[in-house]
Amino acid sequence: METYNYIYNLPVLPLRGIVVFPKTMLHFDVGRQQSQKAIDIAMKNDQMIFLVAQKNPAVKEPVSSDLFSMGVVAKIVQVLKQPDDTTRVIVEGLKRAYINEFVDNKKCLFAQVNVCGEPENDLQTSHEIALIRQIKATFDNYARLIPKLSSDVLFRVATCDNGSELADFIAGNTLPDFNDKQLILETTDVLERLDTLLDILSQEIYILKIEEQIGEKARDRIDKSQREYFLREQKSIIEEELGEDENPKSESEEYKEKILKLNLPEETEKVLLKECSKLSKMPSGSHDVPVIITYLDTILDLPWNTSTKDKLNLKQIERKLNKNHYGLNKVKERIIEQFAVRKLNPDIKGQIICLVGPPGVGKTSIAQSLSSAIGRKSARIALGGVRDEAEIRGHRKTYIGAMPGRIISAIKNAGTNNPIIILDEIDKLGADYKGDPTSALLEVLDGEQNNKFVDHYIDVPFDLSKVIFITTANDASNIPAPLYDRMEIINLDSYTREEKYNIAKKHLIPKQIKESGLSSDNTKFTQKGIYSIIDYYTREAGVRRLEQQIAKVIRKFAVEYVNKEKDSIRISEKNISDYLGVKKYSDDKLSDKNEIGVVNGLAWTSVGGTLLPIEVAIMPGTGKISLTGSLGDVMQESAKAAVTCIRSHSEFLGIDSDFYEKSDIHIHAPEGAVPKDGPSAGITMATAIYSALTSRAVKRDIAMTGEITLRGKILSIGGLKEKSMAAYKSGIKKVYIPKSNVPDLEEIDDVVKEKIEFIPCEYFTEVINDATVEPIIVKDKQNSILLTDKTPEQTVVRQ
Ligand code: ADP
Repeated sequence: METYNYIYNLPVLPLRGIVVFPKTMLHFDVGRQQSQKAIDIAMKNDQMIFLVAQKNPAVKEPVSSDLFSMGVVAKIVQVLKQPDDTTRVIVEGLKRAYINEFVDNKKCLFAQVNVCGEPENDLQTSHEIALIRQIKATFDNYARLIPKLSSDVLFRVATCDNGSELADFIAGNTLPDFNDKQLILETTDVLERLDTLLDILSQEIYILKIEEQIGEKARDRIDKSQREYFLREQKSIIEEELGEDENPKSESEEYKEKILKLNLPEETEKVLLKECSKLSKMPSGSHDVPVIITYLDTILDLPWNTSTKDKLNLKQIERKLNKNHYGLNKVKERIIEQFAVRKLNPDIKGQIICLVGPPGVGKTSIAQSLSSAIGRKSARIALGGVRDEAEIRGHRKTYIGAMPGRIISAIKNAGTNNPIIILDEIDKLGADYKGDPTSALLEVLDGEQNNKFVDHYIDVPFDLSKVIFITTANDASNIPAPLYDRMEIINLDSYTREEKYNIAKKHLIPKQIKESGLSSDNTKFTQKGIYSIIDYYTREAGVRRLEQQIAKVIRKFAVEYVNKEKDSIRISEKNISDYLGVKKYSDDKLSDKNEIGVVNGLAWTSVGGTLLPIEVAIMPGTGKISLTGSLGDVMQESAKAAVTCIRSHSEFLGIDSDFYEKSDIHIHAPEGAVPKDGPSAGITMATAIYSALTSRAVKRDIAMTGEITLRGKILSIGGLKEKSMAAYKSGIKKVYIPKSNVPDLEEIDDVVKEKIEFIPCEYFTEVINDATVEPIIVKDKQNSILLTDKTPEQTVVRQ
């Protein structure tokens, strides 16, 4: 190995921002006196000089401490005096060297330097070869990112196999930062030097890539705006050529004219004109332009001055309501009353009607047919699940994608400012953190305030006082209280079987036949056919499902008709299953014998009344009460009240007074998966417990309903009409009802009253004696005792 551990005393030339490497030729201009002297001294001797970088290039007269210690021993090849008194020198870097110590010299910096040894190329390790390859590959990537590199440099890098020279060459010719260059110069160990260079190159590539990305983005932005500018210019030239912009009226002026034509209240007009002037001042490319345009279009679309004239001929209204809806007399009467008053006093702020009833009983459709009867437009707003105030009142137009709320949208769709707006399912309104829609609705429905209803989007008042609002709900108890107070509740009951039959015959069937394009001459339904659909294919309070089933039958026949398989049909109870498949429901079947511990209760559900048997079993135990069959909280409490009632009357009833300590009571309501609630099964449970404790069988053809108190008093219940319908359909002969419900008997269908005896009761004792019988005790083959009747109504035999 050839080493150059020579020591030289050389003049020192401090370099500003330049690092010279061995084996490179370089020229630079020298202006500082100190440096000129160093060159002079060198030229007088053997032209050798020590070139070393200043730590801080800004220092004008560097002293020893301002210099790095590692530099390069160089030979001055040429010195050229420039006209401006500077000197241009061409140097050739020879060897790395570091300053050992500075030597005193008055004229310039002078130092004793140690020249570093360099390894031989043929002693390369495989590590070095690998590093060289790696450097070359990385350099390739690096060079791609800096296109101004000369082909000379690329060629030298590609052909250089000496690790030390390669690192020095790349660093000297391509690295942008002089600190990095100095670092490479200072790293005397070749492997370490290659490694450091690799790091620096990778870092540079990373930075250059980011720079490139930033550059691309900026370029895109510039391109886009240039493109827009170009297109806009072109557009205006085309318009000019076509003569389209002769005396052009600006968009904002057009809006202004339209707004002035609307004759709006002064304040409103002012606000809107302000929007127009905002529009006129905006540059055409501004993002806010479409926002204002959409806003003004929405405003202009609203029926500020368009209204329909009411046809208030009461007879005609009645006729039209009757034409579309069977029955519903209470509702129709109430509607007629309201319009009679309106006729006498057109300015009256009528009360808001709320139609309450189970689904499918015609709440929405009667409101709709009312609108056509009086010649108003109608719009429907489904409130189910509305939780956000903004749905009613809209979002401010500054929100992205803001729209008016549902009320203003409904007005816009109706196209008049006095439509009938049906607010469906007002009992399903929700409320959450986004605000309470109820308060917004209160304002909408309040006749005193709604002439200045402000939607957040519209932002100017709109007069809703001419609108007729009709609301609907399934359950009045779920209507938010403040709304409830402002409305007149009209209850629509569930339909009886006969009513359903009539509705089907007079309305649903003709309607469906008409819709299908068939005719009533070839499409007929027998009475029994219609009843079969009602009894076996639907179970509902209203007639929605019934209508669907009728439509299904007619559709199927339509196919047969078109295929020429049949040219007419007569739907009866015999062929109905050909069209609707197997029966979906069967009649509520009564037990065929009197049983102990089972009583028919009556329940009122959203689909009408239904028979709800309650079973009680008593077992030896420790006084536990189990309640099963998806009983709601109220029903569970009512079960406990029934147990206590029986317990507290045990002596009177002839029951062991300590039965409670010795037995467990299990109360169950079959069809366990169907949730049930309410207090009206109290008397039923008490009777079942009594029956189970005394082994007296309950008559099979009776049913009962009533809330029970601890003292055994029977309190009134709701839904008697529906409950008695269910009892009637199941063949019940006697129904025990609370005495306080007697006035409700008036509403009950005559058909039902004919078949069922209603027994009003005040105390549970009146029920339990009458409803139960002594059981017949029979022995079966194994001689075990069965405590049930073998045959109903048989005289009691006690063994
Ligand atoms: P709701 O609003 O009470 O849920 P809909 O008004 O939607 O019920 O009524 C459901 C369907 O039943 C409608 O097609 C309607 O025409 C029909 N309908 C309900 N009640 C009657 C009725 N009394 N007479 C005629 N059709 C009725």
